[in-house]
Amino acid sequence: MPLVSINPATGRILKRHREHTAKDIEAALAATHQAFLGWRELALADRARHLNALGAALRKQAEPLAQLITAEMGKTLTDARLEIEKCAAGCEFYATHAARFLKPQRTLGAPKNTQVVFEPLGVILAIMPWNYPFWQLFRAAAPALMAGNTVLLKHASNTTGCALAIEHLFRDARVPANLLRTVAVSSKAIPALIKDPRVRGVTLTGSTGAGRKVGALAGAALKPCVFELGGSDPYIILADADLDLAAEICAKARLTNSGQSCVAAKRFIVVESVRAAFEQKFTARMAARRMGDPTTAATDFGPLARLDLRDDLHAQVQKSVKRGARLLLGGTIQPKGKGAFYPATVLTDVRPGMPAYDEELFGPVASIIAAKDEADALRIANDSDFGLGAAVFTRNRRHGRTLAIERIEAGMVFVNEQVRSDASLPFGGIKDSGYGRELSTFGIREFVNIKTIWVS
Ligand code: NAP
Repeated sequence: MPLVSINPATGRILKRHREHTAKDIEAALAATHQAFLGWRELALADRARHLNALGAALRKQAEPLAQLITAEMGKTLTDARLEIEKCAAGCEFYATHAARFLKPQRTLGAPKNTQVVFEPLGVILAIMPWNYPFWQLFRAAAPALMAGNTVLLKHASNTTGCALAIEHLFRDARVPANLLRTVAVSSKAIPALIKDPRVRGVTLTGSTGAGRKVGALAGAALKPCVFELGGSDPYIILADADLDLAAEICAKARLTNSGQSCVAAKRFIVVESVRAAFEQKFTARMAARRMGDPTTAATDFGPLARLDLRDDLHAQVQKSVKRGARLLLGGTIQPKGKGAFYPATVLTDVRPGMPAYDEELFGPVASIIAAKDEADALRIANDSDFGLGAAVFTRNRRHGRTLAIERIEAGMVFVNEQVRSDASLPFGGIKDSGYGRELSTFGIREFVNIKTIWVS
């Protein structure tokens, strides 16, 4: 079965990619394993040089790569360019800091003749989603590579063009051969790869359902894993919030990447006393964002990545309305035509039992949920299977910080800010949002052998 890339803005088929055969997969795995045996011997300073070369290659090819991202999954060209720049900066971040992150240590209270060292594991299987087709891969691969591992990439089927471009980029950067190879395969090929003894770790960014399946396979094979899964981030608007600031940030955070970000704002939990004012300000800002051709600079957000994803999202909206949610904006498929467009949509009166409350909405649809007071808002925020990011809006920064630390069940909490990833900070979630961390010093320690040395 070919893997088909379709431009979601036009419905046009871009390319049918040949699916790799069992022989191709074996060749790619053998090559990444062989590459590991040499790469792990390199000094960190040499690995850093190669990571910097990858960063430079990304910058050099930024324009065609950004155009490919936009064509394959529909984000705006402006955002695609930023994504490539973030990947380059991520490579440089680990090139600069990895030696400190992996410096041998003597642990607190340990005898003087002991040491802890960090060694690579081998080939890491990276199963990646389409929403940030370069950044998701690079944020996993840059630390894994700097630690001395190599990477076998299985990308989302609809971004096979990006997956192959990433492999080419490694060649163009003239880093040692086969540090990263792509296998253009459907998920059917995954069980055999996870079982293979040359694969020594698995990292998956994607839906909770895929995480459960891959987690079961990796558990059976006793392979370490990182899972970056779905989210339904609550943005809590307290009575003393700066409502203009909150409305502006919330609209931006909901429409980032056409709403298709794991840490997009998804549930807006508003204390009753400011609910009407927030609804009015927020809806006005959602309405002001321009949907359209993602290659045009004036466009704020493009189509969803695939027609089936658009239709699933619309079904979630319709079901929520049927169960009593009220539409303040959008909620109809438009414009009609071949593109997978869905307009900015605001639902209010959202309650338990509605998809807009219980499920992740992966698109430009906001769910406003009323809370009696602060305690009720916190209860609702935590009343979710997910625990990825969260935000609190209050003029009392100190109180916001206390709530962030003590009361909110999430991997990352931002006060008066949009949740986002940063190479210097750990990224990841709890509950059904997954486990393990990416980025910062914590991310690079996920796929290493933390080895105790005792010399008598
Ligand atoms: P997805 O359908 O789960 O796909 C993600 C990757 O997993 C793809 O490569 C997919 O391959 C593969 N996959 C799916 N089912 C599999 C299975 N049974 N066995 C092995 N591999 C399997 O997710 P998506 O639609 O691409 O991405 C959207 C989801 O990802 C959202 O829930 C979003 O919140 C989450 N996400 C989380 C983060 C985070 O950091 N926490 C970041 C981005 C996205 P195929 O394409 O071939 O099916």
